[in-house]
Amino acid sequence: MFETVIGLEVHTQLNTKSKLFCSCATSFNAQQNSNTCPTCLALPGALPVLNKEVVHKSIMLGTAIDATINKTSYFDRKSYFYPDSPTAYQITQLYTPVVEHGRLEIDFEDGSKKSIRINRAHIEADAGKNIHDGPVSKVDLNRAGTPLLEIVSEPDMRTSEEVVLYLKKLHSIVRYLDISDANMQEGSFRCDVNVSIRPKGDEKLYTRVEIKNLNSFKFIEKAIAVEVERQTIAWEDGVYDDEILQETRLYDQDKQETRSMRGKEGAADYRYFPEPDLLPVKIDAMLEKYSKIPELPNEKRDRFISEYKLSTYNANVITASLEMADFFEDMLKEGGTPKTATTWLTVELLARLKGGLSLSTSPANSKTMGQLVNRIDDQTISGKAAKEVLDYLMENDSDVDSAIDKLNLKQVTDTGAIEAMCDEVIGANEDKAEQYRGGKDKLIGFFVGQVMKASNGSANPQVVNEILKAKLG
Ligand code: ADP
Ligand code: MG
Ligand code: ZN
Repeated sequence: MFETVIGLEVHTQLNTKSKLFCSCATSFNAQQNSNTCPTCLALPGALPVLNKEVVHKSIMLGTAIDATINKTSYFDRKSYFYPDSPTAYQITQLYTPVVEHGRLEIDFEDGSKKSIRINRAHIEADAGKNIHDGPVSKVDLNRAGTPLLEIVSEPDMRTSEEVVLYLKKLHSIVRYLDISDANMQEGSFRCDVNVSIRPKGDEKLYTRVEIKNLNSFKFIEKAIAVEVERQTIAWEDGVYDDEILQETRLYDQDKQETRSMRGKEGAADYRYFPEPDLLPVKIDAMLEKYSKIPELPNEKRDRFISEYKLSTYNANVITASLEMADFFEDMLKEGGTPKTATTWLTVELLARLKGGLSLSTSPANSKTMGQLVNRIDDQTISGKAAKEVLDYLMENDSDVDSAIDKLNLKQVTDTGAIEAMCDEVIGANEDKAEQYRGGKDKLIGFFVGQVMKASNGSANPQVVNEILKAKLG
C-alpha cells in the first residue's frame, strides 16, 4: 500500500501597475516589447529599483497565512540562460524570503479540516515569453520583470482532493486581499505540482517529480493520477530507482501521460549568490500598515453563518469568491431575507449564467436580484412566477416590478377573490369535501391544486391553503 506525497509551488503574479524593478507597465497585451526599458532589457549599467508595493502585497499574504514576516529580507541572483531572460539570471529570494513558516487551513466537504504548512513565499521577477512562429522564434519581453510571489507548501498533501482544496483556498485568499488577478488561464496563478509516493507508514520522503504546464484544476487532478500510477508501477516492477528520477516533467493532456522535460538542477547548479545591485529590504516600517488586512474567506464564511444563519455548505459556496460574497451582501441591502437570497443567487442565478456571463456581467445585477427576492418574500409573486421573471430579466433591461406587471404574474393575495374561488371549487366537489371532513386530510392537496388552476396559478398557495382549511374545517 502506497501513499501519495504532494507539495505545491504556486506562482502568483502580483497586480501592481509597474514591474518589480523598473517603472514599465505590467500589461502584456500592449505591442510586443513596448513595455520595456534599459532595466528590464538588462542593458549594461541599468540598475534595479525595488517596487515597494510588491513588498506591501507580500506582507499582506504573509499575514493572511499566519506566517513569519522577516524584518529584513534579501534578494538573491539565480543564474541560468534562457532566451526570454536577457539578464541571464533571475532575481529571487533564496536565503531570507519575505515570508516564511505559514499555514493554510483546508475544509473538506464533511466539515473536517486540515492544516497545510507553507514553507515560504518569496518575491521574484518573471521572465519574458518565447514565441515560436514556424521556423522563427521571437522573444517578447513585456512580461520580463513582472512581480511574482512564489508560495511554496511543505509536502503535506496526500490526495488530489487536498491539492484542489488548497489551491482554491489560496486562490480565494489572494483575490480577497486583491494582491493578484489570479487568472489561471492567463497564467497569473500558476502551479507546479511535486509528487512522490512511499509505502504507507514510512516517514521518509522519496524522489519527487515536479510537474509543470498545469493551468486548470481538472488537469492537476489528472496529472497527479497518471504520475502516481507511473511511480507505483515502477516500484512494483522493481525499477523505481532507475525510472523515477528527480526531474521536471510536462503533463500531456492528449496522451494522458507526463514526460520528462529536463533533469532537476540542484541549488548549486544555479550559482545562487546575494544580489549585489539591491539593498536589504527593511520591513519594520511597513509592517504595521500592511499587516492590517481585509476579512478573509474563512472569517467571512463564519460571519455569514452567524449573521445570516446560512448553512456551512451555502456559506462556503458564497464566500469562495469575494465577487459572489459581495453580490450576496449587495442583494441583502434591498431588504430581502438571506434564505431566499441564497437560493436565488446560488441556484437560480448561477444556473442562468451561461455563455461567458459572470456575476459582474449578469444582466440581472445584485440590486435587481435583491428586489426580486423582496417580491418573493412579500409574496407578490410565487417562486414559480419568479423564475419566469428572472428569465425575462436576463433577456430584457427592466426593473423587477415592471417585469412582474408586464408578465402579469402578480399573485392574488386578495382574500375576497380567493375565497370566491375556494367556494366554487368546494361546491363543484362536494363528494371530496365530505371525504376530507371524514378524515382524508390528504385531499387538501387536490383542493389547493384546483384553486390554483382556477386562478391560472396566480393565487398565493399559502393563502389558498389557509382559506380552504377554514372552509372545509
Ligand atoms: P525547487 O525550486 O527546486 O522546485 P522548492 O523548495 O521551491 O524547490 O520546492 C520544492 C517543493 O517540492 C515544495 O513544495 C515541497 O513541499 C515539495 N517536495 C519536497 N520533497 C517532496 C517529496 N518527496 N514529495 C513531494 N513533494 C516534495
Ligand atoms: Mg521551485
Ligand atoms: Zn522596464
